[in-house]
Amino acid sequence: MTDAALHALPKVELHCHLELAFRRSTLQSWALAKGMTVAHEAEFNREFLVTEPMADLPAVLHKFLNTRDVIDTEEKVEQLTYEVCEDMHLESNVRVLELRYAPSFLLDAHANMDADRMLEAILRGIRRAEASYPMAVGLIGLLQRIKSVEDNARWCDWILERKAHFVGLDLADDEVAYPAQPFAPLFQKAKAQGLGITVHAGEPNVPGAAENILIALDELGADRIGHGVQAIQDDSVIDRLVRESVPLELCPWSNVLTQAVPSLAAHPFRRLMECGVRTTLNTDDPGVMNVTLMDECNNVMNHLGLSLENLRQCNEWARQASFIPQDRIDAVWPKSQP
Ligand SMILES: [Zn+2]
Repeated sequence: MTDAALHALPKVELHCHLELAFRRSTLQSWALAKGMTVAHEAEFNREFLVTEPMADLPAVLHKFLNTRDVIDTEEKVEQLTYEVCEDMHLESNVRVLELRYAPSFLLDAHANMDADRMLEAILRGIRRAEASYPMAVGLIGLLQRIKSVEDNARWCDWILERKAHFVGLDLADDEVAYPAQPFAPLFQKAKAQGLGITVHAGEPNVPGAAENILIALDELGADRIGHGVQAIQDDSVIDRLVRESVPLELCPWSNVLTQAVPSLAAHPFRRLMECGVRTTLNTDDPGVMNVTLMDECNNVMNHLGLSLENLRQCNEWARQASFIPQDRIDAVWPKSQP
């Protein structure tokens, strides 16, 4: 199997955080312009990249916040968005791309920015990419569970008032200290208005994480699960995912870096797939985690023995699970596959 054959496989990326999906050279030039000492590779990596498993969450957070500090204008947000799309397509032949972002994340650090201007900048970046490459790109609004229900209710309404520009709603951040249930009414409201629902659940390797998947399904109405890797700990959760054909947005390299799994070889991607779960392959934070979708394909092939045919099946599940309207997907999906 050559890299060319793998690249030729048309791909779907469902789980990518826009704010952390920067192109390295661009972020480096922005950071240098702000006076940061990141001219050398090691310096840049120390400030912005997670390159090895981190037990220490503050050390990871430091890199997220550095990234946030540097993305400080709407112009940069437009360029960031365009480049994420372009890199996904050129490096990995991604045809269907869902990008998620939390309006509150960048705005909290930059009083000069405005939520509507930022959304317009993201949409400009997406439109330019869709005009340049055969891609369908959709936007998922992200609520942060570390914030109050009131704050999130405001952002949920903001997203719903602009729902022509969003395909879905997500809940992210620490699922251990911040239960999902208080946010259920917001997700039920968004679901009733036609948005696709995905929820970060079952990610960290802690007791009870698998149950968070059931809460996401039963109380928040999730159509897909962000990560869900800990489903492997509970047969009843696996049965439920199989019975209801619920796709998991799995991100193997991210799981290694956050120590959700001990290693790529120990990742349950293949075991879940063999149980009949609709496993999809994604990058999570390709900039900060320095990973492409091609890398993730190679990870599951080299460490777990997946075949190109397995990956074709996973991309087919992902294509079916996308929140982007099917006619937009059909327009960019190759008619005859290699
Ligand atoms: Zn995520």
